[in-house]
Amino acid sequence: MLKEVLLSARDLNVHYRVGKHLLPSRRKIVKAVNGIDLDIYRGETLGIVGESGCGKSTLARALLRLVEPTDGDLLWKGENLRGFSKLTLARRRREFQMVFQDPTASLNPRLTVSECIAEPLLTHEPQLKRQEVERRVIAMMDKVGLLANQRNRYPHEFSGGQCQRVGIARALILNPDLVVCDEPVSALDVSIQAQVINLLNDLKQEMGLTLVMIAHDLSVVRHISDRVMVMYLGKPMEVGRYDHVFDQARHPYTKALLSAVPIANPRLARNRQIQLLPGDLPSPLNPPTGCVFRTRCPEATDQCGRQSPTKSGNEQHHIFCTNTQIA
Ligand code: ADP
Ligand code: MG
Repeated sequence: MLKEVLLSARDLNVHYRVGKHLLPSRRKIVKAVNGIDLDIYRGETLGIVGESGCGKSTLARALLRLVEPTDGDLLWKGENLRGFSKLTLARRRREFQMVFQDPTASLNPRLTVSECIAEPLLTHEPQLKRQEVERRVIAMMDKVGLLANQRNRYPHEFSGGQCQRVGIARALILNPDLVVCDEPVSALDVSIQAQVINLLNDLKQEMGLTLVMIAHDLSVVRHISDRVMVMYLGKPMEVGRYDHVFDQARHPYTKALLSAVPIANPRLARNRQIQLLPGDLPSPLNPPTGCVFRTRCPEATDQCGRQSPTKSGNEQHHIFCTNTQIA
């Protein structure tokens, strides 16, 4: 069966100008997303992982045109998403929704949870009768594990996990095709992270969604992703099917991330070697030449500073590295 590409990005760039210089052209440039090619297939869960500051949120927002890309193409169901007028974009937003990182901050504190969930519905289907809106909100609350009798409460009366359930209900009430979740559990207690991830995974199956799941930690996306993209400083490092990336990681950055994933079995955990990366993420204002990862890469050679990393591999699994290549 041919896989349908729902959203594709070609050479996507988002550059921010920062600093206080009066002339915008003299301000420094942060290349938060720096030339990303990506296809998102209908029905899949794509995990995107990388350290904090590597451009995940910017990429998530740029894919849905919540920030304007500086350069590159976006195709949504084969249509030029960057060419959508403001009005078309507003109308078509119901097809692609986002779940945000901080559930309490992303909900309007003045609205009850049922109003929060109903808001997108009222915007996109203003003709709906009140009873119908109420019926759909309650059905959605039930789907995300909230009780109908909680509907008149305010977000501050809920825990972080419950607020994220409200955020998920709000994103799903319009029956979107694609939901981009930007670190949906990183603000939550560890004990409830798995519940929320499982909820998203169940809803994906039930509603036939396509999910993009962003995390800074590989363990979060491990069990639910069909494919994974590992990124570093605005660029992809390794992309491929979940089993290829997790079981046969080839890029030194992915290997380092994997070595840090917690292991439940104490015997295995004791015997493994954690590969620590030296230093911090370099400033995106002044990224290393050649391969951006080379300053922290245990396998870097002089050549890595002189040339852009080589792409090797195939659709199933590819990496961007000068030293290691996939046949
Ligand atoms: P992540 O989600 O992976 O932590 P972000 O996309 O939030 O990364 O940020 C990527 C880089 O872009 C960071 O260096 C961040 O400081 C910078 N950045 C993000 N948003 C803005 C903005 N609005 N203006 C200037 N720089 C920004
Ligand atoms: Mg982020």
